Amino acid sequence: MRYTKKDILEMVEEEDVEFVRLQFTDLFGNMKNVAITASHLKKALDNKVMFDGSSAEGFVRVEESDMYLYPDYGTFATFPWRPQQGKVARLICDVYRPDGTCYEGDPRYILKKVVSEAAALGYTFNVGPECEFFLYHVDDDGMPTTITHEQAGYFDMGPLDFGENARRDMVLTLEDMGFEVESSHHENAPAQHEIDFKYDEALQTADNISTFKLVVKTIAKRHGLHATFMPKPKNGVDGSGMHINMSLSRDGRNIFQDSHDPNGLSQEAYYFLGGILKHIKGMTLILNPLVNSYKRLMPGYEAPTHIAWSGRNRTPLIRIPATRGEETRIELRSPDPACNPYLALAICLAAGLDGIKNKIVPPDAMEGNMHLLTPKELEERGIESLPKNLQEAVEEFEKDPLMKEVLGEEVCGKYSMAKKKEWEDYNATVSQWEIDSYLLRI
Ligand code: GLU
Ligand code: MG
Ligand code: MG
Repeated sequence: MRYTKKDILEMVEEEDVEFVRLQFTDLFGNMKNVAITASHLKKALDNKVMFDGSSAEGFVRVEESDMYLYPDYGTFATFPWRPQQGKVARLICDVYRPDGTCYEGDPRYILKKVVSEAAALGYTFNVGPECEFFLYHVDDDGMPTTITHEQAGYFDMGPLDFGENARRDMVLTLEDMGFEVESSHHENAPAQHEIDFKYDEALQTADNISTFKLVVKTIAKRHGLHATFMPKPKNGVDGSGMHINMSLSRDGRNIFQDSHDPNGLSQEAYYFLGGILKHIKGMTLILNPLVNSYKRLMPGYEAPTHIAWSGRNRTPLIRIPATRGEETRIELRSPDPACNPYLALAICLAAGLDGIKNKIVPPDAMEGNMHLLTPKELEERGIESLPKNLQEAVEEFEKDPLMKEVLGEEVCGKYSMAKKKEWEDYNATVSQWEIDSYLLRI
């Protein structure tokens, strides 16, 4: 939606909006906000609201900490779950330095930069995510547990699906906020769900993913449940992925389609695919950012473990969904919903563009169930594995020059450093698995 300053001031007046939340995202994808009252809105719309950048994770040092929030007028929306008199609205903001320059560590800026590079080549990057999540009980203190009594599975319905009412409210709330929700269903694991909304250009989709998580968590709480986007909250069942469906369009037409090709893909689509496959190891730290992310990327749970693509089956990293024509797209299956959506889409687009610019031809498609191949067969076919843990992902990230090109030297440094620390903390912690395996016997 294109709003002017006047439109927003009028809407706030007409809709009885009392508070406006100015939102932005830190380096690790956490949404942050500061609330202002409607009487201060004009000041905010003139980009005059300041915050302490040193308090946002991954932003600047204390000595240079004054930052400004520049609201993106097009993101104005009200929160349907807040009071209807004295409503609450939000504006998603870009982060600027006091001298009026964009802050290059703002994830939204990083995505915008790659999007405009694509635009200079005539491309629009269209993205549709598939966000999965779990709904668990909370304890007496309102703290999340991993407890559920639900036993439903893929596409099951109520009364087996205990989450159907919560999911229904989530979908209706998303629609109230302007989302076009295409479908929702119970996923494979007990208490696991998925809601899919329509693809859009990348910046809009990244904003949508952030809003989506806020809506899902908020509505779950209203139903006395905790929604988690943790990639693998439970042993022995599927984790939650966030498959990313991608295509490029030019002049409003999908240019990934070619009906003469056996896979229905154009040359550009193949090169884009080649670029992603070339950079996927380095990108994994951004797409799978947590220690826990790597517990999802294990064989046997519909999550990819190896670097390959396929026209049909679901075990490889990249799949080509069956729809063709304007809906032609490639589906990257490794990302999980803990990733920072702005950074994730920025590096996907940059890797794809690198493929197009350098005519990177992808290896042949891999048909059949990859999980049935032995390590020897995988090696013979030259199929490499994704990074197996956070440490390997950091190493690969640091090795790939494209990551520095997209994210900038400083952001890369901060990101790696934080992730190394996370890995060290994890390794220094005695886990329940160790207690269960060793305490009695040793
Ligand atoms: N939950 C699976 C994953 O971890 C994906 C299931 C599906 O294909 O939707 O990626
Ligand atoms: Mg799914
Ligand atoms: Mg999928």
